Amino acid sequence: MSESSAPSLPELIDMQIRANGPMSIASYMALCLTHPHKGYYKQADPLGARGDFITAPEISQIFGELIGFFCVNLWQQMGEPKSFTLLELGPGRGTLMQDALRAASKAEGFGDALHLQLFETSEELKAQQAIRLGQYYPYWPSEIDEVSDDPLIVVANEFFDALPVRQFVKGTAGWHERLVGLKDGKRSFGLSPTAIPESALPAAVHGAAPGEVYEVSLAAADVMQRLSKAVGRLGGAILAMDYGYVLTRTGETLQALRRHAYADPLAAPGDADISAHVDFGALAAVATGAGLTAQPLATQGDFLRRLGIVERAEMLSAANPDEAGNIAAALDRLTGPGQMGELFKVFCAASPGLVPPGFSP
Ligand code: SAH
Repeated sequence: MSESSAPSLPELIDMQIRANGPMSIASYMALCLTHPHKGYYKQADPLGARGDFITAPEISQIFGELIGFFCVNLWQQMGEPKSFTLLELGPGRGTLMQDALRAASKAEGFGDALHLQLFETSEELKAQQAIRLGQYYPYWPSEIDEVSDDPLIVVANEFFDALPVRQFVKGTAGWHERLVGLKDGKRSFGLSPTAIPESALPAAVHGAAPGEVYEVSLAAADVMQRLSKAVGRLGGAILAMDYGYVLTRTGETLQALRRHAYADPLAAPGDADISAHVDFGALAAVATGAGLTAQPLATQGDFLRRLGIVERAEMLSAANPDEAGNIAAALDRLTGPGQMGELFKVFCAASPGLVPPGFSP
């Protein structure tokens, strides 16, 4: 079959539903985002030209620089190990890590001790990462926990929100999984007829009213489980920034974005970014279950201010007066309450005894 006559992703999804029946939202989301040839993150430039969304490191270099200081601080608390792994999940264009390592390499010994690993699904983005980060000789593992025996620091910005979620809707006799099916030939949401007893769901959502929705990401829990085990064994920390909430609760957050506008998640599979807010309460439970200490979740604004973003912005503006207006606008975007400052949360779980900076006043 020639490329031009190969089925499109929407056709493939519809064929699969016709053959196997309705699919879970997690299966649908995984196909939309990471189908080997046609998924959103497999396309030529998922973050670039199309510009469906803009992330914190792309707003200002200060974001990555402060993450760099964060890593240096942890590395020093660990006794400046001669060899350690820095693993970034979903590094995008490599901007965050480029800014982080430019700042962190000023700490003596840090650059020599660093083993950079980048976990990435997109070949196009891997190529961009290779250009921006080639000087640090990165390695792209195929498994998330394919790490050496060195201490491990993990950084993830807007990675966990791209992992598939399942949704369950409360009914009168239990919870029903929401599924993607076809109605009159058109993709639509429906409910599994089989009810799951409430006891199978976390206590936090017991007693919900009919119609309420519970979202769960088994993929996110699996990633956190594997990384927590590795950090528990080797020493280190996991830092994750994302849209998200503090405690497991009901509420529907699945959303699609296409060229900066909200879109119907079912309308254009593979052509829109689909994400869901992160249940940081669930991730903290996994990390503490594996023996790590989870910090109280911080807002991105508080975290960045504690790491000194205001002072850093002033320094940059003094050095580049022509840029002062842009720097002030970026500061506001990253930390402002109506902007990313409060919607975005910062999660950190670390080996007991480490005190990750940015979490206590
Ligand atoms: N951290 C970057 C990019 C965020 S977008 C930034 O802040 O700009 C999400 C990133 O995660 C992209 O690099 C995407 O290709 C990657 N990604 C999404 N799902 C993934 C998966 N299942 N496995 C590996 N990487 C994934």
